Amino acid sequence: MRFLVAMMKHETNTFSPIPTDLKRFRDWGLHEDEAVVRAYRGTNHPLAAFLDLAAEAGADVVTPVAAEAMPSGIVQRGAYDYLTRRILDALANGAYDAALLDLHGAMVAEGEPDGEGGLLERMRAIAPTLPIAVTFDMHGNMSDRIVANTTAINGYKSYPHTDMYAAGEQIGRLLMRTLKGEIDPAMSWGNVPLLAQTLRMGTADEPMRTMQQMCRDAEREPGILAASVFGGFPMADIEIAGLSAIVVADRSREKADAVRDRLLDAAWARKDDFIYQHEPLGQAVARAKTMTDGPIVLLDHADNVGSGGTSDSMAVIAELLRQGLDDVAVAAVWDPEAVKTMMAAGVGADVTLDLGGKTDMPSIGAKGQPLRLTGRVRRLSDGQWIVRGPMYTGSRVTTGPTALFETGGLSIVVTSLHHEPWDLGIFTSIGVDPAHCRYLLLKSRIHYRAGFAPLAKAPLTLDGVGVTTSDNDLLSFRNVRRPIFPLDPMQRAPRPRNP
Ligand SMILES: [Zn+2]
Repeated sequence: MRFLVAMMKHETNTFSPIPTDLKRFRDWGLHEDEAVVRAYRGTNHPLAAFLDLAAEAGADVVTPVAAEAMPSGIVQRGAYDYLTRRILDALANGAYDAALLDLHGAMVAEGEPDGEGGLLERMRAIAPTLPIAVTFDMHGNMSDRIVANTTAINGYKSYPHTDMYAAGEQIGRLLMRTLKGEIDPAMSWGNVPLLAQTLRMGTADEPMRTMQQMCRDAEREPGILAASVFGGFPMADIEIAGLSAIVVADRSREKADAVRDRLLDAAWARKDDFIYQHEPLGQAVARAKTMTDGPIVLLDHADNVGSGGTSDSMAVIAELLRQGLDDVAVAAVWDPEAVKTMMAAGVGADVTLDLGGKTDMPSIGAKGQPLRLTGRVRRLSDGQWIVRGPMYTGSRVTTGPTALFETGGLSIVVTSLHHEPWDLGIFTSIGVDPAHCRYLLLKSRIHYRAGFAPLAKAPLTLDGVGVTTSDNDLLSFRNVRRPIFPLDPMQRAPRPRNP
């Protein structure tokens, strides 16, 4: 047997000013051919599960590409064409028994708002009967084109995404049984007009905890092979953005439809709980100041790198300095220029920097505003480590040349590449022990829980400035389907939801 195995992942924030070219994929991870196996075998990724299942089945694998970039703006056409071409050429030039793909589901490319749908449609045109199994991130925006051109789909059930390997193994085994003729997958999908907010999708919290438990319960019913609820990615101004469900049943489309309806009805009934409630920044920081039992996690969620944030918005840091919080470790401010200055000055040097604020954010009408700060260069590093926490376990990651800058009561990790802090390595790789800090200010939303939840005492969301804002009033949506909640007041979900 011969399997085509590939990965192409990007969560595209159409409001983000950060360009997404091929270099951005190379900065995080772009591997080709045999290098794919070396980079991902043994890691917590769907792709690693696909490789293990192929080995178990005694199948040869062809791995044309495995590419992922940190979330950012619309993927440039050249990058999208390069990555899809790698997969399509491999498919066209070989004979395969199956394809196993590790995709995200929220990729928007220039001229192609449904990046994954576009890829799968063209794969199906080349190989009309090829069994194709795909895993998608819980933040994927699903579509007709995605489902119509795929044999079986599974999504992650945990956010933070600590079950990526498990999701791959589940759908991969399902495909192996399909190849043996034991089962015949029938898929059903649908969506509700709900632009759920990722800050309200953590699976330790309601309502997503119940939604994912409903999926697990459904999978124990006879004939149901996989059930997934996708919260979707709301920072994408595209027609298909929003919450959806996909159910795979053995032979029975009716069974799949019934579970899909149950999941979508439950999500719609709790639509208000999928929307974040704001608190003024100054008030939240003042509340943090009264807390004593650290480490207290403060979340600069409007500049969440893992949703396309610029990682250099200084609004929350400025407020912490203004209110005089002490013993705060910050991860991280993106500012390659400041890192260069600190590298030139050396460890122990006192420097004055115009830190951060290098990126304008036209989508929210905000100019980049650096903060002039005087402080000390405490440490320098190459920013590389291997993840030992539960998400992306075993992966080598890098923040590029990195410096630790101490100013006022803050120790700020300053990086040369964008990176969401979900692993303790962001601090420990530069000599900061996060357990010994009173406050940790993280440019993250939910993924921080992967590494930090065991030591975080009281997570507090701080409403700063950035392109991952949860304030819809700041964003102008032009392309998403209307009406959609909460942009429009809606009481009933229109049917049918599976066109
Ligand atoms: Zn995600």
